[in-house]
Amino acid sequence: MIKIEYLEVKYGRNPPVLSIDKLHIGPRERVAIIGPSGAGKSTLLRTIKGYVRPARGKIEVMGVNLATARRRERQPVNQRIGVVYQQFHLVKRLSVVKNVLCGRLGLTSRWRSLLGIFSAEDRAVAWSAICEVGLSKKVHQRADTLSGGEQQRVAVARALAQQPTIILADEPVSSVDPAWAEDILELILQVQAHHNATLVMSLHQPDLARRFADRIIGLRDGKVVFDGPPSMLTENSLKELYRGIDSLPLNGAATHAEKDQTRSA
Ligand code: ADP
Ligand code: MG
Repeated sequence: MIKIEYLEVKYGRNPPVLSIDKLHIGPRERVAIIGPSGAGKSTLLRTIKGYVRPARGKIEVMGVNLATARRRERQPVNQRIGVVYQQFHLVKRLSVVKNVLCGRLGLTSRWRSLLGIFSAEDRAVAWSAICEVGLSKKVHQRADTLSGGEQQRVAVARALAQQPTIILADEPVSSVDPAWAEDILELILQVQAHHNATLVMSLHQPDLARRFADRIIGLRDGKVVFDGPPSMLTENSLKELYRGIDSLPLNGAATHAEKDQTRSA
């Protein structure tokens, strides 16, 4: 599904921020990427999505090497990758259903996309995605009037509207109330299983990675320093991964007090 070999990713003329010799992710795997801030987690997800072109090496996604493929070959791959972001990335003033229909853009014909006209199929897929995330009663509500947890559900529905083969989630629960974090992760696993998709998510808390992934990849300075099942992730491997970092994110979700501090900061 995803095959990375001797991959190097750089931003401009800076030294590589990702340098991975070999990393294969198979169909329907549930992978969590953990590691300190700046380790390259988001860059890895962006590279899989095709937003960042590698400087060297191979990144094959659904059989297409994104490092060398032309735009026309990359596009169908990109369309089958649904992404959920930390900050939701919804269009605030649009309703739930319109945000979810955005997931259909690019899958529908170009002129329809440009005009924002959606087919009966687009609407049916969007409606089923909205029901799947439990927002059928809020279809016409504006996105910015929803709670953080609900907004992230909309983002999951938008990803589902792409009928994704791969779901990428970049710290999907770092901006939601800790009380909702587990619900969102459970929802993501549920939709991943239902759609037989491959899941790759970056998570800030190793504890959540342990509980919600079957395979954990530890990144540090752009390199894979851990790759294995949660049972192999020992306290020592965590110490090594977060070496030199003052506060280890070892416990579950952030506390309410921490959230309040970040809000008032
Ligand atoms: P993480 O998601 O693990 O925190 P990132 O992938 O965001 O890490 O960043 C990896 C490294 O790449 C960091 O050193 C960061 O400063 C750098 N970086 C990320 N995005 C850009 C960018 N758009 N331009 C230049 N450098 C970047
Ligand atoms: Mg990041």
